[in-house]
Amino acid sequence: MEFVSYVGLGSNLGDRELNLLRAIAEIGKIPASRITALSGFYDTEPVGPVPQDPFLNAVLRLETSLTPHQLLAELQRIETEVFRRDRTIPQGPRTMDLDLLIYDDIVLESETLTIPHPRLHDRRFVLAPLAEISPDQTHPLFGKTTAELLRDLPPGGQVTKI
Ligand code: ADP
Ligand code: MG
Repeated sequence: MEFVSYVGLGSNLGDRELNLLRAIAEIGKIPASRITALSGFYDTEPVGPVPQDPFLNAVLRLETSLTPHQLLAELQRIETEVFRRDRTIPQGPRTMDLDLLIYDDIVLESETLTIPHPRLHDRRFVLAPLAEISPDQTHPLFGKTTAELLRDLPPGGQVTKI
């Protein structure tokens, strides 16, 4: 388990809290990986073009020996098989969204995977839980810590820890 990664979780369909707890349990079963920190749960305003219900978001730290693409495949398997996620509306409501936010100090852009997650640094619903568990973790592209990124965000995107 030599690499430190961070996974963002979000749900705005069904029982959001139960969905997060279920996803955490499933992530805990990913091979060659171990959850080493878990944020609180945050009630958050939806961001983006589609009007929809508020999300419940969390972030966890996962130490892993899987490659970034192997880890993404595991997260997508959980979205699809466990949550039967329907992808008909892009950026629309979802029972579970699992994003790979940071993987070690890797910077990569492939057809299916961009790390660090391209919108991580401007989303309060990601930075608030991420800075809660790992305020000193630096962003591999910007060199700022997650606490600094959160502090420097423009106002907006209400989040409330429940
Ligand atoms: P959203 O942007 O709303 O999270 P999806 O969850 O449907 O949308 O993801 C769309 C695509 O984003 C996925 O098919 C996946 O291949 C790609 N993707 C690229 N980088 C990442 C990442 N770091 N974490 C998760 N998905 C990613
Ligand atoms: Mg996603």
